[in-house]
Amino acid sequence: KHNPEGDAQFLEDESTKIFARKVADHYSARTNQTLEEREASPIIHLKKLNNWIKSVLIQLYARRGDAVLDLACGKGGDLIKWDKAKIGYYVGIDIADGSIEDCRTRYNGDADHHQRRKKFTFPARLICGDCYEVRLDRVLADDAPFDICSCQFAMHYSWSTEARARRALANVSALLRPGGTFIGTMPDANVIIKKLREAEGLAFGNSVYWIRFDEEFSDKKFKSSSPFGIKYKFHLEDAVDCPEWIVPFQVFKSLAEEYDLELVFVKNSHEFVHEYLKKPEHIELMRRLGALGDGNQDQSTLSPDEWEVAYLYLAFVLKKRGQPDRT
Ligand code: SAM
Repeated sequence: KHNPEGDAQFLEDESTKIFARKVADHYSARTNQTLEEREASPIIHLKKLNNWIKSVLIQLYARRGDAVLDLACGKGGDLIKWDKAKIGYYVGIDIADGSIEDCRTRYNGDADHHQRRKKFTFPARLICGDCYEVRLDRVLADDAPFDICSCQFAMHYSWSTEARARRALANVSALLRPGGTFIGTMPDANVIIKKLREAEGLAFGNSVYWIRFDEEFSDKKFKSSSPFGIKYKFHLEDAVDCPEWIVPFQVFKSLAEEYDLELVFVKNSHEFVHEYLKKPEHIELMRRLGALGDGNQDQSTLSPDEWEVAYLYLAFVLKKRGQPDRT
């Protein structure tokens, strides 16, 4: 018997899977760069700035011996940051098999182009999987609970449907211990929507990035439509070229609360830089990462176009409700 609703659901599920695959294939295809290639990147200072933001978040919340869950860990670019925080255990998951392989290589210390170093001090488990589809509490039953969950520059890939967004937050909540911390970075929907409204058509950008919304959003109004599945194409020179989804922060915040995750803070990257760059230890870190020039200003070596891309992102911290079971 013909079942239009069933057909529509089937088509939605299929297109969701196709887009998840597109994202995975895009990241899988990105090969490791040599140090020379990395330094020559048109967005090298933006990459360094983003590494600084992630390092500050880790320094602020990680404690010696912590068990860490890194959702969408990519090639393991944060392994060194976690090592510096002296964590006790690390689980990294990513949908892109190529990235997980690179992550494994980096963890084993075989061919790290960026930093030749010996083994990491913590044991690690690296898994290829879709963090926004799979019930991770089943996969990681023996590894949980975690003290910290981190999802860097990747939460927005869960916002294609409500089911995926819920799975993402349910996974984080189920795996964190009471009082555990969820840290992350993702696009700042307020900034992106503001730029869209100011744009002539459905696209905007500068010399290093562009964003283009689908024709279906040509009225530029999102209030009446669902807060999930608002898709755009994001292109960032030498980094990203794939579909992404708007994450309205208020919706993220209230959905997270449903899963016992309470907001500690949210800050646009610009605000984050201005706030944390006042602290000497963070200035020193920025200098070591090379994102700062000689002058002490945040954007002194970032081009204005890179600084504008930084403005497209925010950092968030959430806390799992309940009393910590250790001191
Ligand atoms: N977190 C890493 C970092 O900060 O360097 C990687 C960030 S990269 C911009 C986004 C990552 O999200 C990619 O490695 C991609 O494969 C991963 N990703 C996207 N969708 C995913 C999903 N459904 N499950 C797991 N990983 C996913």
